[in-house]
Amino acid sequence: MPQTYDTILRRGLVVDPVNGVHRQADVAMSDGRIAAIGEIDGTAREDRDVAGLMVMPGIVDAHVHLSPWLGGGAGHRMLALAGVTFALDLAGPIDGVTRLAAESGCGVTIGCIDYVRPGHTVGSEDPGEDELRDALAKARRAGAIGFKILGGHFPLTREASARVIDVAAREGAYVAFHSGTLSTPQSVAGMRESCELAAGNPLHLAHINSYTRGLDASAVIEAEEAIAILAETPNVWSESYLAPINGNSGKCADGVPESVATQKNLKRGGFPATTEGMVAAISAGWAQVHVLQDGVHVLTGGEVGLTAWRAAESNIGISFEANPPEPRIHLATAKRADGSFAVDALATDGGGIPRNDLISRGLALYHLDALTLDDFVLKTSAAPARALGLAGRKGHLGIGADADVTVIDVARLSPVESYAHGRAVLRDGEVVGRGARMLVPPEGRAHVESLGIETLVAEPGSMLSGRGA
Ligand SMILES: [Zn+2]
Repeated sequence: MPQTYDTILRRGLVVDPVNGVHRQADVAMSDGRIAAIGEIDGTAREDRDVAGLMVMPGIVDAHVHLSPWLGGGAGHRMLALAGVTFALDLAGPIDGVTRLAAESGCGVTIGCIDYVRPGHTVGSEDPGEDELRDALAKARRAGAIGFKILGGHFPLTREASARVIDVAAREGAYVAFHSGTLSTPQSVAGMRESCELAAGNPLHLAHINSYTRGLDASAVIEAEEAIAILAETPNVWSESYLAPINGNSGKCADGVPESVATQKNLKRGGFPATTEGMVAAISAGWAQVHVLQDGVHVLTGGEVGLTAWRAAESNIGISFEANPPEPRIHLATAKRADGSFAVDALATDGGGIPRNDLISRGLALYHLDALTLDDFVLKTSAAPARALGLAGRKGHLGIGADADVTVIDVARLSPVESYAHGRAVLRDGEVVGRGARMLVPPEGRAHVESLGIETLVAEPGSMLSGRGA
């Protein structure tokens, strides 16, 4: 007797490398799970013909920003429009991320790791072990699954950076590092130092391409160095992104930009690293302000950008063109001798920063024969799902997996529809999702649910448990 499902997607090209599926098939979803795959003669309340489109496990972006100081609530809509069904905020602060998720959720599931930032979550640039343990416990109760070290923006001492990674490992928490310490800048040298400071512990090393901007040597040579470092450090899990722009805080205090990265980018463009330099750089279009337009952020320089930056009292996102093309492409596609990717995942560092380009730029690499569709799914869904400890339920379309699905028009490099836990997030390119769901540690569940956010629980120790997909 034919079954009735919630939704059936019919006749799409299903690409699910984890289960060895790459063929035209129907996919049925019920009660938030994948219920059937193949030629399905059942009926559904929503019967969708997706012939000619690719159907893949929902896109997981392992590096985004959805906090008040970086990204903002608009990031939820921007992720939904980009076909993403799960995203990890890589900075926090956790209370800002949960507040904005409750206000602006568009159906995308998120997780958050909280920053270890002097004057915000810790007292100094050299927090001790007890202080870090307390900060982690507090972050977890608020819903964060771990820690972020903001080296390139707000560096800690080498010793404290190592302690953060060590405490996270002992507590089974997620930990990510934007390379750089008080003694070493954000560069290939900073990246090498991060790998040393991990001392064999699990670590998510963020945006590898941002250490290979060609500031010390040719960008291509730096990318090769980065790949060699990662090959020697199997405990380190990594991602890179494909956009030309970076994302910085535009905030100035006491006459200077707060972030070291922002200061550097002003100097690189020939502007002084001061508030006046920032004004001149925005006016000239070198610094582009993330201006809200129709619910999404758009890069804007000149008078309009300056007005937005002033209206926000400088506390607004800005971007500079910082990433040369060659390392972005090379780090996205390079493989080791054993066939595994040199950099585990493709992410965006997007969210509210306008560069949610996994489909638009990532699938451009498919059209260049630089990635297969299976490669694309491994790097944008299976590998990040596994790093998050969600390999059983996300990153593939096996029966019983979460009904997270992204449907893509590959020829047009554009998402058409998406589902998170069986609920539509995107339909015909329009955002229809509502509310938020969040991956939280057990001790953060009660608080996050009290904000009206649904939860799924991350078991401590399940995350970053090994490389490869
Ligand atoms: Zn980031």
